[in-house]
Amino acid sequence: AAPLVIAVSTSISAKRGLLIRNRANFEGARKLDAVVFDKTGTLTKGEFGVSDIVPNEGYREDDVLLWAASLEQNSEHPIASGIVSSANERNLDLKKIDAFESITGKGIEGTIEGKKVNVVSPGYVDSHNLEYDKTRFKQLSEEGKTVVFVLVNDELTGMIALADMVRETAKEAVASLKEKGIEPIMLTGDNQKVADWVASKLGIKQVFAEVLPDDKANQITKIQQKGLKVAMTGDGVNDAPALATADLGIAIGAGTDVAMESADVVLVKSNPKDVESLVDLSGKTYRKMV
Ligand code: ADP
Ligand code: MG
Repeated sequence: AAPLVIAVSTSISAKRGLLIRNRANFEGARKLDAVVFDKTGTLTKGEFGVSDIVPNEGYREDDVLLWAASLEQNSEHPIASGIVSSANERNLDLKKIDAFESITGKGIEGTIEGKKVNVVSPGYVDSHNLEYDKTRFKQLSEEGKTVVFVLVNDELTGMIALADMVRETAKEAVASLKEKGIEPIMLTGDNQKVADWVASKLGIKQVFAEVLPDDKANQITKIQQKGLKVAMTGDGVNDAPALATADLGIAIGAGTDVAMESADVVLVKSNPKDVESLVDLSGKTYRKMV
């Protein structure tokens, strides 16, 4: 009878917006102890808007934005589209890029008009010992804003703060997992303060922030080493290794192809709440088969 049960549950799962890519791992979901969520693009919409531009002395807001947007034209990160849209709204003429590369989990670097330009994370700026307004930075982060720094020839021109939106459905997802005795955990490359702000909105207690892409997978392994069965939910290229390492990899449908290819289940509607039906359905399928 097993094949019939599988066929039935596949059509039910499709109706609930779940695309199951690896059935064995999916069925294991009934025994989950924890579900790890990526922040940007998973718990939040990943649709950034520029909220504040803080220029350093000698620069104007438009200068900071123009250098940043010119370079971000080549990036697919959610931060990039927020910065480029903001420059478009201000009718800024973007400069031509002569070289571009991404610094995984930390930002981007390129050459524009013979100058080295960077748009980078607070972690990058700290590790290069660059001076900035720490009070303002702290204030923006505590408002839940993601802050990036704009460098021209290794000189800081200013910072740009971007606001994202927490998904309402993420709050429901977290609450329903807790009810089932499953621990929700956040894992993000973003700043600790922003991560804490989002976590407090959602009721998540365990937060791992400022985690570089390679370390996302290591973090999953550490949780597994405690004897816990863990699912990872993510949308980005940087989540792919963690999705593959987890006992169950769950990708957001609106995310990157790489994430979906590394996952066992895809949330077709990009709704984190569907993690709940996933847990329920895996349990039902299992009961019918034994
Ligand atoms: P998350 O894990 O929340 O999805 P990422 O690992 O994608 O976050 O990014 C981590 C951090 O690296 C960002 O918060 C940002 O500071 C920096 N970063 C990554 N890509 C870019 C980019 N294109 N422009 C500016 N900053 C970036
Ligand atoms: Mg992400």
